[in-house]
Amino acid sequence: MQEADFIVRLKDINVQYGSYHAVKNVTLDIARGEVVAIVGPSGAGKSTFLRTINMLEQPSSGILQVGSFRFALDHALTGEQLLKLRRSTGMVFQSFNLFPHMTVRKNISLPQMRVLGRSQAEADARTAQLLERVHLSDKADSYPARLSGGQQQRIAIARALALDPDVMLFDEPTSALDPELGLEVLAVMRELADEGMTMIVVTHEIAFAAEVADRIIVMADGEVIEQGVPAEVIRNPTSSRTKKFFRAVVERH
Ligand code: ADP
Repeated sequence: MQEADFIVRLKDINVQYGSYHAVKNVTLDIARGEVVAIVGPSGAGKSTFLRTINMLEQPSSGILQVGSFRFALDHALTGEQLLKLRRSTGMVFQSFNLFPHMTVRKNISLPQMRVLGRSQAEADARTAQLLERVHLSDKADSYPARLSGGQQQRIAIARALALDPDVMLFDEPTSALDPELGLEVLAVMRELADEGMTMIVVTHEIAFAAEVADRIIVMADGEVIEQGVPAEVIRNPTSSRTKKFFRAVVERH
C-alpha cells in the first residue's frame, strides 16, 4: 500500500501511568475507509490507546499521523496542533457527553460554528442532514434528557460527524445501553461503515466486529497480541491469550 493511502498511522505508541505501562509499543496503520475493531479483556489498554489518537491521553513516546498531520509525541503539542488533530478525529464516548442545557440542534450546530467558523444557517443545514442520517430528524428541538440512551448516542455520533473528521473513534459506544438500544446505535455505525467512513471501534460486541470490521485487533496487557480478518482471528486464533479471551466471551453469552 502507498504511504498516502493510510489515514491514521501510529508508531511505537507508549503510555505510562507512573510506573504502570498501560500501552506498550503499539504500531498501527489504518487505510482510508477501513473499519478496525479493537477487542480484548478489561484493562488491556484499549481505551487508553484509542484516546492517544486524539491526544485525550498523552503518550510518553511514539509518532502519530492523522490525515496530513504528523507529530512526534515525546513533547507536548502546541494548542494549534491539538486543535487540528481534534478537528480531524470525531470521538464518541461510552457516556454520550451531550450538553444537557442545549437542544439537539444546538448540540450539533454549536461546535461547527465554534470550530469551523460556519454561520448559524450553514451549521443548522448540516445538522439537519446529519439528523436525517442518524434517523432522528424529529428530535431537533428536544433536550437530551428527553431522549433514550440509544437516541442520545446517535446524536453524539451526528455531533462528531459534524466536523467532517478524517476518522471516527468509538470508545465502547454501546456498553452503557440496554441491548435493544445498543442495536440501533450499531445499525447507524454499520451504515457509516458502508458509506466508507474510516472507523476505529473499541468494543465488546464481537458479533458486530465480525460482521462490520475489516480488521480485528486483539489487545492484552497493553500490547497488540493478534490481528487480522475478523472471521479468521475469531475462528482460528493463534495466540493462547486470544483463545482464552474468545472462550470467556462465548461463556458470558
Ligand atoms: P481497557 O479499555 O482495555 O479496559 P484501559 O485502557 O481503560 O483498558 O486501562 C488500561 C489500564 O490502565 C488499566 O489497568 C487501568 O486501570 C489503567 N489506567 C487507565 N487510566 C488510568 C489513569 N488515568 N491513571 C492510572 N491508571 C490508569
